[in-house]
Amino acid sequence: MEVVIDRLSGLCAYGPTIIIESELDGKEALETVIHEYLHAMNPGAKEQYIQEHGEALANLLWQLGARVS
Ligand SMILES: [Zn+2]
Repeated sequence: MEVVIDRLSGLCAYGPTIIIESELDGKEALETVIHEYLHAMNPGAKEQYIQEHGEALANLLWQLGARVS
């Protein structure tokens, strides 16, 4: 899977590429990467499911020290 930093806040094209806004940083960047990854891995999932699980996983990984650089 490829992750591209761009001007969008986030985009998953249901393929091997996730696009993340270049200006995102901190926990918002981590949550966006996870959010778009969940879309890629669960193409039929509803947005609410992706948001809830993405936020929960981002919170956990943030507490463990995960960062997007
Ligand atoms: Zn979404």
